[in-house]
Amino acid sequence: MSDREVESPHDRFAGSVGSVMAEQVVDTRGRPVRDLRISVTDRCNFRCTYCMPKEIFNRDYEFLARDLLLSFSEIERIARVFVELGVRKIRLTGGEPLLRRGIEDLVARLAAIEGVDDLTLTTNGALLARKARSLAEAGLDRVTVSLDSLDDATFQAMNDVGFPVSGVLEGIDAAAEAGLVPIKINMVVKRGVNEDSIVPMAEYFRGTGHIVRFIEFMDVGTTNGWRLDDVVPAAEVIRRIDEVFPLEAIPPNYPGEVARRFRYRDGAGEIGVIASVTQPFCGGCTRARISAEGMLYTCLFASKGTDLRSLVRDGVTDEELADVVSGVWQARSDRYSEIRSEATSGLVRVEMSYIGG
Ligand code: SAM
Ligand code: SF4
Ligand code: SF4
Repeated sequence: MSDREVESPHDRFAGSVGSVMAEQVVDTRGRPVRDLRISVTDRCNFRCTYCMPKEIFNRDYEFLARDLLLSFSEIERIARVFVELGVRKIRLTGGEPLLRRGIEDLVARLAAIEGVDDLTLTTNGALLARKARSLAEAGLDRVTVSLDSLDDATFQAMNDVGFPVSGVLEGIDAAAEAGLVPIKINMVVKRGVNEDSIVPMAEYFRGTGHIVRFIEFMDVGTTNGWRLDDVVPAAEVIRRIDEVFPLEAIPPNYPGEVARRFRYRDGAGEIGVIASVTQPFCGGCTRARISAEGMLYTCLFASKGTDLRSLVRDGVTDEELADVVSGVWQARSDRYSEIRSEATSGLVRVEMSYIGG
């Protein structure tokens, strides 16, 4: 925590007492708040080299103590406020969200909030075979499963804990059986590491109804040693797949959709690319993020957040909480990816495993 700046919520809170409930809140660039990503833990059972490299996330690393994590009631309360302000999609993430004990209870609480159209969770899949059914029963709509290669040696080198591909595939099958569909499969593509897995991944999931999304390796946090040379541009991913399985572009499902969509010309389904480095999409970014300890961030690359946990634990009313959140959102001007080239040097950023991907 030492290297993160924390804005005092009380500064912002002072003098803002009127209710903003049910108002359409937009930021300085006219973007509404529509998606809420909630990180439920900063811990993980993987050590993906691009996210939680072992050299840093080792025995000496201080993860958040339990009492610093938002409780499920606190998360539910905060989520309700965001839904009042316009959020329609909620995604649980981490760290690895399935490590959080009783996660089904949280899913059930969030599923019961009126106005949430889409309740999803992003997972590395390691515990999914065990949990898919109970998550679906609790009210989860869908899952996104991360899988960087179908080749065991490549995948194990990337997750860095020796977890086998078969374990994730079992999780994906269990999720499909439990009805958590359509399943999205996230593959982070790193030059020289797993680029040879692009076409095999496309081939394996063609015709299954699952949607593989190829993600450009991003410069999140400060620990993953990001270099532009490590990025495989989305256009190259599309070209490589198109050479084997012809593709055509299709329109977004909704305005501001992050993935660019393509479908196989032979009707075997669709894929997506998330080109946050080469084709930034800040203009349509409607996402707010809550870290596991209750910090609100308005950008994945933020260096400064707003402490909602203190507010909640200090006993503010829902109305006061909504005032703070809408004040933060209205002041938002983030467009980090768009200005990445000038802005990368010298910024203190939070880690992906902390803020939630
Ligand atoms: N542990 C879960 C998982 O891996 O699915 C959820 C959290 S993880 C931080 C969320 C997503 O962020 C994953 O799909 C992961 O591959 C992606 N991710 C992590 N670090 C990244 C990076 N540097 N660039 C691009 N994507 C990244
Ligand atoms: Fe864990 Fe997900 Fe980060 Fe991999 S990407 S280290 S699974 S949080
Ligand atoms: Fe949204 Fe920030 Fe990513 Fe731009 S850089 S798309 S503002 S999260």
